[in-house]
Amino acid sequence: MVNSMKARFASNCPSCGETMKVGKEIVKNSDEKWVHKHCAEDSLDLP
Ligand SMILES: [Zn+2]
Repeated sequence: MVNSMKARFASNCPSCGETMKVGKEIVKNSDEKWVHKHCAEDSLDLP
């Protein structure tokens, strides 16, 4: 269901603030921002 891909360039994850390195699995969160896969899963659990 979650659409993930491998990062093609390094950028900062707006969710945790850490770097998303090239080749890391990233996903779009509910704000249409690219974040780490595990960060998106966390934010999607909001009540
Ligand atoms: Zn993150």
